[in-house]
Amino acid sequence: MVEYVDIVIIGAGILGCFAARAFSAYDLKTIVLEKREDVCTMISKGNTGIVYAGYDMHPGSLKANLTVKSNSEFEDLCNELGVPFYRCGSLMISYGPNGDRSLEKKLEHGRQNGVPNLKMISGEEAQKMEPNLKQGITKALYAETTGVVNPWELGIAAFENARSNGVSFRFMEEVKSCEASEDGILLKTTSDNGHSDKEHTYVAKYVINCAGSDASTVRELLFPKTIGIHHTRANYLVYEQGKERTVSRVVFYEPEQKDKALTLAPTLDRHLIIGATESESDDQPTYATDREDLERLLSFTRDILPEMDASTLLNQFGSARPNPYLYDDPSAHLSDFNIAEDDRMISLIGIKTPGITCAYELGKLVADKIIERIGEVKENSNYDPIRIPPEPFSVLRYNSAVDGPIICACNLVTERMIRDAVKRGATTINGIRRRTSAGMGRCQGAECEEAIIKILADELEISIQEVTKDGTGSTIII
Ligand SMILES: Cc1cc2nc3c(=O)[nH]c(=O)nc-3n(C[C@H](O)[C@H](O)[C@H](O)COP(=O)(O)OP(=O)(O)OC[C@H]3O[C@@H](n4cnc5c(N)ncnc54)[C@H](O)[C@@H]3O)c2cc1C
Repeated sequence: MVEYVDIVIIGAGILGCFAARAFSAYDLKTIVLEKREDVCTMISKGNTGIVYAGYDMHPGSLKANLTVKSNSEFEDLCNELGVPFYRCGSLMISYGPNGDRSLEKKLEHGRQNGVPNLKMISGEEAQKMEPNLKQGITKALYAETTGVVNPWELGIAAFENARSNGVSFRFMEEVKSCEASEDGILLKTTSDNGHSDKEHTYVAKYVINCAGSDASTVRELLFPKTIGIHHTRANYLVYEQGKERTVSRVVFYEPEQKDKALTLAPTLDRHLIIGATESESDDQPTYATDREDLERLLSFTRDILPEMDASTLLNQFGSARPNPYLYDDPSAHLSDFNIAEDDRMISLIGIKTPGITCAYELGKLVADKIIERIGEVKENSNYDPIRIPPEPFSVLRYNSAVDGPIICACNLVTERMIRDAVKRGATTINGIRRRTSAGMGRCQGAECEEAIIKILADELEISIQEVTKDGTGSTIII
């Protein structure tokens, strides 16, 4: 059977979710096809979660314009979606003349880009603001508007809002082929539910390709290759912050020698993320961590935060960077956001930093482009941009008869909150983690994972052996 729709969005990372939300404001039949079991399981879960101020981007670029605009809208967006956001500010610090020069250039870019409240401060001032940083800072660029957000929380919120406004999300459906048809683009997907493969066919008037690391491959199903992707690996360390926060703002470390700049980012749940390294990954997107990269990060941490308590190291994670280049000239790296506009298809290719910051604006941009192509489109009269977030744990309201036992003692997550997360779309242990933070505290799931597996099995009506950590191939109980 062929299903006819107006819009197909390929990929339910943060960009697909925000594109879906933007289309849900119109009276259009929109579906999202996602090859995995949940939203935001790839790059959108493996990043630094910084809402950038906008001084890092080349003046006049789409990136620069969207970043400054998106940053200024972030409180409103997060209020609509019920997502916490912390405008903590940032310091870009240098320890010598090369770093100082780079900071001056960024200050100039920031001015040209219209970044508000951006100023150069002395090393001493920076050291007062962040006393735990290694001594000897020569200059610092202070950006008051930098913030942090939990990236998957934002993506999940956009997904829930788009879904409640009528967008249909189809998980475990990988787009395998696209061909031009009389009515639009004919797409074939295979859905692997773990037991059998099923093929589905759709005809979409327009396709939005938000396939992340695979966006260029998906575009090549129908159009000639013009943009190539060079995949590299990024690694991070996660520390627990004590009463005395190690740093209370985002800190960008501008290296003196030619090296990767590294970042320290405090998170909303009192963690500190340090990263990201960049190294080769055999040109494959990989989310694995690498011993050498992690050791480099450990040594960086010891150097930049000499008093940091090493026992507060909680976890590590890896992510994949899709680095776009001109296919005909691999030395031509494409640093701006790449939006390939083809017949009936728009592709967001190799959207790296600051894709989280700009997800809302990028979603609106692609929707506007399609609405312009279609011409007149009625608005969705039931559209509501407000998403009601799940209730957080409250000691005062806790009632064991209603809420069930506390399953995650580190982060105070009850059985009811976990069951509610399954109803909202979680199908894996990591899906529960991302929605409730159960298992993300000090014990990293050692105390609660077994109980979570049982609740998942019960809610999904599957055996505990079928419960996975993070989708197909990651069962835990044999
Ligand atoms: C190391 C790193 C750090 C970053 N830090 C920041 C930051 O601090 N701040 C910031 O603003 N931005 C940051 N970014 C950028 C941001 O994370 C990305 O721009 C954003 O997450 C990209 O989202 P996406 O939806 O394109 O990709 P993804 O999240 O990877 O989603 C793509 C989806 O498409 C699906 N898919 C792929 N192929 C198919 C197919 N054939 N059929 C169906 N589905 C398919 C995948 O399963 C996946 O779910 C960072 C990026 C990296 C790599």
